[in-house]
Amino acid sequence: MPSAYTIDQLTEIIVMDGFSASVKRTQRKRSVGFRVVDGEVFVLAPKSISKAELHLMLVTKQAWVRAKLVSQSKRQPRSERQYVSGEQFACLDDELRLDVRPGAFKTCVVESQRLIVTVPQAKPEWVRNALERWYRQQAEIHIKDRVAHFAPLVGAWPTTIQIKTYWARWGSCNHQGQLQFNWKIMMAPSAVVDSVVVHELCHLLHMHHGPEFWAQVKRVLPHYRDAKQWLKEEGYQLTLD
Ligand SMILES: [Zn+2]
Repeated sequence: MPSAYTIDQLTEIIVMDGFSASVKRTQRKRSVGFRVVDGEVFVLAPKSISKAELHLMLVTKQAWVRAKLVSQSKRQPRSERQYVSGEQFACLDDELRLDVRPGAFKTCVVESQRLIVTVPQAKPEWVRNALERWYRQQAEIHIKDRVAHFAPLVGAWPTTIQIKTYWARWGSCNHQGQLQFNWKIMMAPSAVVDSVVVHELCHLLHMHHGPEFWAQVKRVLPHYRDAKQWLKEEGYQLTLD
Protein backbone atom coordinates (compact mmCIF):
# COMPACT_ATOMS: atom_id res chain seq x y z
CA MET A 1 0.00 0.00 0.00
CA PRO A 2 1.67 3.27 -1.06
CA SER A 3 1.69 6.12 1.47
CA ALA A 4 -0.60 9.12 0.99
CA TYR A 5 2.49 11.13 0.03
CA THR A 6 3.26 8.78 -2.84
CA ILE A 7 -0.33 8.88 -4.06
CA ASP A 8 -0.31 12.68 -4.07
CA GLN A 9 2.90 12.66 -6.07
CA LEU A 10 1.85 10.14 -8.66
CA THR A 11 -1.84 10.64 -9.24
CA GLU A 12 -4.18 13.45 -10.02
CA ILE A 13 -7.22 13.70 -7.77
CA ILE A 14 -10.60 14.97 -8.92
CA VAL A 15 -12.71 16.13 -5.99
CA MET A 16 -16.43 15.60 -6.48
CA ASP A 17 -19.42 16.22 -4.22
CA GLY A 18 -19.17 13.40 -1.68
CA PHE A 19 -16.21 11.49 -3.12
CA SER A 20 -12.87 11.99 -4.86
CA ALA A 21 -11.44 10.04 -7.75
CA SER A 22 -7.80 9.14 -8.49
CA VAL A 23 -6.78 9.47 -12.11
CA LYS A 24 -4.51 6.76 -13.46
CA ARG A 25 -2.90 7.57 -16.79
CA THR A 26 -2.89 4.55 -19.08
CA GLN A 27 -1.75 3.55 -22.53
CA ARG A 28 -5.35 3.66 -23.77
CA LYS A 29 -5.84 5.65 -26.97
CA ARG A 30 -9.11 7.53 -26.31
CA SER A 31 -11.35 5.49 -24.07
CA VAL A 32 -11.85 6.39 -20.42
CA GLY A 33 -12.74 3.80 -17.80
CA PHE A 34 -14.33 4.24 -14.38
CA ARG A 35 -13.78 1.79 -11.54
CA VAL A 36 -14.98 1.66 -7.96
CA VAL A 37 -12.83 -0.79 -5.98
CA ASP A 38 -13.18 -1.29 -2.22
CA GLY A 39 -14.79 2.12 -1.82
CA GLU A 40 -12.16 3.94 -3.91
CA VAL A 41 -12.90 5.63 -7.22
CA PHE A 42 -10.46 5.42 -10.13
CA VAL A 43 -10.53 7.04 -13.55
CA LEU A 44 -8.39 5.25 -16.14
CA ALA A 45 -7.56 7.68 -18.91
CA PRO A 46 -5.03 8.34 -21.66
CA LYS A 47 -2.65 11.29 -21.24
CA SER A 48 -4.36 13.17 -24.09
CA ILE A 49 -7.49 13.84 -22.03
CA SER A 50 -7.28 16.79 -19.65
CA LYS A 51 -8.32 16.70 -16.02
CA ALA A 52 -11.09 19.22 -16.82
CA GLU A 53 -12.54 16.88 -19.46
CA LEU A 54 -12.33 13.96 -17.03
CA HIS A 55 -14.12 16.04 -14.42
CA LEU A 56 -17.01 16.62 -16.85
CA MET A 57 -17.19 12.90 -17.64
CA LEU A 58 -17.25 12.13 -13.94
CA VAL A 59 -20.18 14.52 -13.46
CA THR A 60 -22.26 12.38 -15.82
CA LYS A 61 -21.14 9.22 -14.01
CA GLN A 62 -21.58 10.41 -10.44
CA ALA A 63 -24.95 8.74 -9.77
CA TRP A 64 -23.43 5.44 -10.83
CA VAL A 65 -20.31 6.04 -8.69
CA ARG A 66 -22.42 6.91 -5.63
CA ALA A 67 -24.57 3.81 -6.02
CA LYS A 68 -21.39 1.70 -6.27
CA LEU A 69 -19.84 3.36 -3.21
CA VAL A 70 -22.98 2.82 -1.17
CA SER A 71 -23.33 -0.80 -2.23
CA GLN A 72 -19.70 -1.40 -1.27
CA SER A 73 -19.91 0.33 2.10
CA LYS A 74 -20.83 -1.90 4.98
CA ARG A 75 -24.13 -0.49 6.10
CA GLN A 76 -25.26 -1.43 9.60
CA PRO A 77 -27.59 -4.44 9.49
CA ARG A 78 -31.16 -3.26 9.63
CA SER A 79 -32.55 -6.20 11.52
CA GLU A 80 -33.27 -6.20 15.23
CA ARG A 81 -33.71 -2.50 15.61
CA GLN A 82 -34.27 -1.16 19.10
CA TYR A 83 -35.54 2.31 18.08
CA VAL A 84 -33.24 4.00 20.57
CA SER A 85 -31.01 7.06 20.26
CA GLY A 86 -27.79 6.40 18.39
CA GLU A 87 -29.17 3.90 15.87
CA GLN A 88 -28.53 4.69 12.20
CA PHE A 89 -31.35 5.23 9.73
CA ALA A 90 -30.68 5.81 6.05
CA CYS A 91 -32.65 8.25 3.95
CA LEU A 92 -31.50 8.63 0.34
CA ASP A 93 -27.75 9.32 0.51
CA ASP A 94 -27.75 10.32 4.18
CA GLU A 95 -27.06 8.16 7.20
CA LEU A 96 -28.93 9.76 10.09
CA ARG A 97 -28.50 9.12 13.81
CA LEU A 98 -31.71 8.60 15.68
CA ASP A 99 -32.21 11.05 18.56
CA VAL A 100 -35.27 10.22 20.67
CA ARG A 101 -36.45 13.14 22.83
CA PRO A 102 -39.29 13.30 25.35
CA GLY A 103 -42.20 15.65 24.64
CA ALA A 104 -45.62 15.91 23.01
CA PHE A 105 -45.82 14.04 19.64
CA LYS A 106 -44.16 16.14 16.95
CA THR A 107 -43.14 15.71 13.32
CA CYS A 108 -39.58 14.34 13.04
CA VAL A 109 -36.90 16.84 12.10
CA VAL A 110 -33.41 16.43 10.69
CA GLU A 111 -30.65 18.57 12.19
CA SER A 112 -26.98 18.07 11.30
CA GLN A 113 -27.28 14.36 10.41
CA ARG A 114 -29.52 13.66 13.43
CA LEU A 115 -33.08 12.46 13.00
CA ILE A 116 -34.94 13.90 15.98
CA VAL A 117 -38.08 12.06 17.07
CA THR A 118 -40.18 13.60 19.83
CA VAL A 119 -42.54 11.22 21.68
CA PRO A 120 -44.04 11.35 25.22
CA GLN A 121 -42.25 8.11 26.14
CA ALA A 122 -39.45 6.26 24.35
CA LYS A 123 -41.65 3.26 23.47
CA PRO A 124 -40.11 1.46 20.47
CA GLU A 125 -43.43 1.26 18.59
CA TRP A 126 -44.09 4.99 19.04
CA VAL A 127 -40.64 5.81 17.71
CA ARG A 128 -41.09 3.36 14.83
CA ASN A 129 -44.48 4.84 13.88
CA ALA A 130 -43.10 8.37 13.99
CA LEU A 131 -40.29 7.24 11.67
CA GLU A 132 -42.72 5.61 9.25
CA ARG A 133 -44.77 8.82 9.09
CA TRP A 134 -41.59 10.77 8.41
CA TYR A 135 -40.39 8.40 5.66
CA ARG A 136 -43.85 8.65 4.03
CA GLN A 137 -43.67 12.44 4.06
CA GLN A 138 -40.17 12.33 2.58
CA ALA A 139 -41.41 9.92 -0.08
CA GLU A 140 -44.37 12.19 -0.97
CA ILE A 141 -42.02 15.08 -1.60
CA HIS A 142 -39.00 13.34 -3.12
CA ILE A 143 -40.71 10.77 -5.34
CA LYS A 144 -43.17 13.30 -6.80
CA ASP A 145 -40.22 15.55 -7.51
CA ARG A 146 -38.28 12.73 -9.25
CA VAL A 147 -41.35 11.69 -11.27
CA ALA A 148 -41.66 15.31 -12.45
CA HIS A 149 -37.97 15.23 -13.38
CA PHE A 150 -38.01 11.92 -15.27
CA ALA A 151 -41.47 12.00 -16.90
CA PRO A 152 -40.35 14.34 -19.74
CA LEU A 153 -37.22 12.19 -20.26
CA VAL A 154 -39.28 9.01 -20.51
CA GLY A 155 -42.04 10.80 -22.43
CA ALA A 156 -44.87 9.50 -20.22
CA TRP A 157 -46.82 11.16 -17.42
CA PRO A 158 -48.78 9.28 -14.72
CA THR A 159 -52.39 10.19 -13.87
CA THR A 160 -51.74 9.92 -10.12
CA ILE A 161 -48.84 9.09 -7.79
CA GLN A 162 -49.51 7.32 -4.50
CA ILE A 163 -47.22 6.37 -1.64
CA LYS A 164 -48.13 2.99 -0.14
CA THR A 165 -46.86 0.18 2.06
CA TYR A 166 -45.83 -2.94 0.20
CA TRP A 167 -44.01 -5.94 1.58
CA ALA A 168 -42.30 -7.28 -1.51
CA ARG A 169 -42.31 -4.59 -4.19
CA TRP A 170 -40.96 -1.08 -4.63
CA GLY A 171 -43.47 0.32 -7.05
CA SER A 172 -46.32 -0.55 -9.35
CA CYS A 173 -48.13 0.79 -12.38
CA ASN A 174 -51.66 0.00 -13.60
CA HIS A 175 -53.58 0.37 -16.85
CA GLN A 176 -55.14 3.63 -15.63
CA GLY A 177 -51.65 5.17 -15.65
CA GLN A 178 -51.50 5.36 -11.85
CA LEU A 179 -48.13 4.88 -10.18
CA GLN A 180 -47.65 3.59 -6.65
CA PHE A 181 -44.42 3.65 -4.70
CA ASN A 182 -43.39 1.95 -1.49
CA TRP A 183 -42.24 4.56 1.07
CA LYS A 184 -39.55 2.09 2.25
CA ILE A 185 -37.57 2.83 -0.92
CA MET A 186 -36.59 6.14 0.76
CA MET A 187 -34.09 4.12 2.83
CA ALA A 188 -32.16 3.37 -0.38
CA PRO A 189 -29.55 5.64 -2.06
CA SER A 190 -31.00 8.33 -4.35
CA ALA A 191 -29.69 6.58 -7.48
CA VAL A 192 -31.70 3.49 -6.52
CA VAL A 193 -34.86 5.55 -5.91
CA ASP A 194 -34.38 7.10 -9.35
CA SER A 195 -34.17 3.66 -10.92
CA VAL A 196 -37.50 2.64 -9.35
CA VAL A 197 -39.11 5.88 -10.54
CA VAL A 198 -37.84 5.36 -14.10
CA HIS A 199 -38.85 1.69 -14.02
CA GLU A 200 -42.48 2.55 -13.20
CA LEU A 201 -42.59 5.48 -15.66
CA CYS A 202 -41.37 3.15 -18.43
CA HIS A 203 -44.28 0.81 -17.62
CA LEU A 204 -46.59 3.62 -18.76
CA LEU A 205 -45.15 2.94 -22.24
CA HIS A 206 -44.61 -0.82 -21.95
CA MET A 207 -46.71 -2.86 -19.50
CA HIS A 208 -44.24 -5.75 -19.51
CA HIS A 209 -40.58 -6.55 -18.87
CA GLY A 210 -39.70 -7.28 -22.51
CA PRO A 211 -36.68 -5.99 -24.46
CA GLU A 212 -38.43 -2.71 -25.48
CA PHE A 213 -39.14 -2.00 -21.82
CA TRP A 214 -35.51 -2.50 -20.74
CA ALA A 215 -34.24 -0.53 -23.75
CA GLN A 216 -36.40 2.40 -22.63
CA VAL A 217 -35.12 2.17 -19.03
CA LYS A 218 -31.53 2.04 -20.28
CA ARG A 219 -32.02 5.03 -22.56
CA VAL A 220 -32.98 7.19 -19.57
CA LEU A 221 -30.69 5.54 -16.97
CA PRO A 222 -27.70 3.87 -18.69
CA HIS A 223 -26.49 2.44 -15.35
CA TYR A 224 -29.81 1.13 -14.09
CA ARG A 225 -28.28 -2.34 -13.64
CA ASP A 226 -26.19 -1.15 -10.68
CA ALA A 227 -29.31 0.03 -8.90
CA LYS A 228 -31.11 -3.20 -9.76
CA GLN A 229 -28.21 -5.20 -8.33
CA TRP A 230 -28.13 -3.02 -5.21
CA LEU A 231 -31.83 -3.67 -4.58
CA LYS A 232 -31.34 -7.39 -5.11
CA GLU A 233 -28.57 -7.48 -2.50
CA GLU A 234 -29.67 -4.84 -0.01
CA GLY A 235 -33.41 -4.50 -0.57
CA TYR A 236 -34.30 -6.78 2.33
CA GLN A 237 -32.80 -4.21 4.71
CA LEU A 238 -35.19 -1.44 3.67
CA THR A 239 -37.71 -1.99 6.41
CA LEU A 240 -38.79 -0.79 9.85
CA ASP A 241 -39.87 -4.26 10.97
ZN1 LIG B 1 -41.75 -3.75 -13.62
